Amino acid sequence: MEAIVLYPAPNMGHLISMVELAQLILLHHHHPSNSLLSVHILITSPPIDLGSPSPYIASVSATTPSIIFHHLPDPSPPLQPASFPSMEALVFEHINLTTPQVQTTLLSISLSSSIRAFVIDGFCTAALEVGTSLQIPTYYFFTSGASCLALFLYIPTLHKNTTKSFKDLNTHLHVPGLPPIPSSHMPEPTLDRTKEQHSWFLNFATRLPKSAGIIVNTFNSLEPNALKAISDGLCVQDGHTPPIFCVGPVIKSSDQSAGGQAECLKWLDSQPRGSVVYLCFGSLGTFSKEQLKEIAVGLEKSGQRFLWVVRSPPMKEQSQQLLSQSEEDPDLDSLLPESFLDRTREKGLVVKKWAPQVLVLSHDAVGSFVTHCGWNSVLEAICAGVPMVAWPLYAEQRFNKILLVEQLKLALPMNESEGGLVSAAEVERRVREIMESEEGNSVREQVLAKRQEAMAATSEQGSSRAALAKFMESAKR
Ligand code: UDP
Repeated sequence: MEAIVLYPAPNMGHLISMVELAQLILLHHHHPSNSLLSVHILITSPPIDLGSPSPYIASVSATTPSIIFHHLPDPSPPLQPASFPSMEALVFEHINLTTPQVQTTLLSISLSSSIRAFVIDGFCTAALEVGTSLQIPTYYFFTSGASCLALFLYIPTLHKNTTKSFKDLNTHLHVPGLPPIPSSHMPEPTLDRTKEQHSWFLNFATRLPKSAGIIVNTFNSLEPNALKAISDGLCVQDGHTPPIFCVGPVIKSSDQSAGGQAECLKWLDSQPRGSVVYLCFGSLGTFSKEQLKEIAVGLEKSGQRFLWVVRSPPMKEQSQQLLSQSEEDPDLDSLLPESFLDRTREKGLVVKKWAPQVLVLSHDAVGSFVTHCGWNSVLEAICAGVPMVAWPLYAEQRFNKILLVEQLKLALPMNESEGGLVSAAEVERRVREIMESEEGNSVREQVLAKRQEAMAATSEQGSSRAALAKFMESAKR
């Protein structure tokens, strides 16, 4: 019996793409002449709401018995979220303290199976040494794209070239293969070098090239410039880059559309083709009450049809935003302008908390997507051929916005004003622009072209299938 062990970060976005990678691996391996293979997924649960993965895990376990989940015991005593400055710092520390359980679990799996590969998320860097010390080839699964990978590989160089934090540099950074990046648009946790999460991310960036290889959720023709810079060794200090496997787009292949969520699909059935703007901001995105009102006014004034996923505003200040997610359903009457829901009843639908996004994006009625630029959302939009308006919120999303708007031309920008608020007028203008203007049309054509390329890459003879085969070959022990 052979095994591949995957170790995803605990948030839904990263977990889903790791599970999809597991499905791809099993599909690839499925041949009568091959030995039995199972994929083991290590699950760790920091004391913070990162999107309730249990129902998802249960449904995967029920449909795919060759995927085996292992819930790692929590460190004792459990961490106190209130004593952490950010979600990232908490997750890194939780994963760090869980490292001994990873070792125990790998040893226990290896009693019944030969572990061909251990594949870890960037957040799980603490486990890299566990894998290598057990002489298991240890790979990264990079859940963002190749451009972001080029950036991360280059971060140690950027860090060495200055003593200042990116947030204080006020300049453009030049990274091989990428458009110039305003220093303020660097991935959020790397902005301030005095913060703890900065050193976690720098450690991750330094360790990336030390792995046996990096699996990337992209396809060759989406980000050729970044991929060339990486393979030419321009992004790392000593010129050594491990093998890169572009196996994407790896996106959610099915969507549970239980209860109220399915209602929005029924509503879409009654809308004209390509007429609806879909607004959704990932598994964690939230807005202040003031910002929700601006969005509502802008949408109403735009006259466009819309499907909008709304969450309750964060309970604490911005820096604690992700640690203070509310489980509560949003109270739409108090959050949105008076009678907004009545007035827009004919044209719009507001969904509380969650929509089955992959199904929504692939619905004929959807004509554009206002997105927080999380990489899964970006790939899902490309696979559905839906043009985007880029409204980044956290993580590496500001960087993704630059990439999508300036280099790939797959999105129009949503721009915030000085104080960080996006005005109703900006929402109205951009939503109209993506749906009705020449610029919107050319973004649509560009996305449709990329969709074709994505389909070609994941077809039987495509580059992503070949990359997966190469990974499996390299993981033979
Ligand atoms: N998602 C969804 N419905 C929602 C919000 C998010 O299905 O209402 C899914 C989305 O399809 C994607 C994932 O959650 O697969 C979010 O991942 P992404 O990388 O876009 O953003 P993150 O949540 O990691 O910031």
